[in-house]
Amino acid sequence: MRFCSNCGTSLVLKEIEQRQRAYCPECRRVYYEQLKIGAGALIELDRKILLLKRTKEPFAGCWNLPAGYVEVDESPVQAVIREVYEEVGLRVEVTDLVDVYFFNDDPRGNGILVVYHCVVREGALIESDEAVAPTYFFSKDIPANLSGGGHDQAIRAWQKLYT
Ligand SMILES: [Zn+2]
Repeated sequence: MRFCSNCGTSLVLKEIEQRQRAYCPECRRVYYEQLKIGAGALIELDRKILLLKRTKEPFAGCWNLPAGYVEVDESPVQAVIREVYEEVGLRVEVTDLVDVYFFNDDPRGNGILVVYHCVVREGALIESDEAVAPTYFFSKDIPANLSGGGHDQAIRAWQKLYT
């Protein structure tokens, strides 16, 4: 961000609370950088896990969980239900939290990926613009090229449970 969203003044860098932060000298507003928040679905079927192949950068051609960014007016649970439907056409129910993964390997910014166990209620697998080839993998068959952004951490943690 280069200009104050309140008054339009050019932001300057100023040391505030031990860090250089964007600051509006006019309104004296500090622009704190924030982590991005994603929500992902761990969907299991007969000891297999559902993965999709990303078509877009970053991590094009890599495998990840159905997932996406959480919008400002929805909860992570709502986000994961929406994303799973958009990406793979399944209506799911969230059953419990798996874990929260911090990532610093996404060129779009650092963030956290909140991963939930989800159970499929209805629908059939489809492909979308961003994700193709939805496939259920056994632990031993999980591809080596996994997406960053917390996906590799979440998938490998699941993989460890079955090896
Ligand atoms: Zn301002």
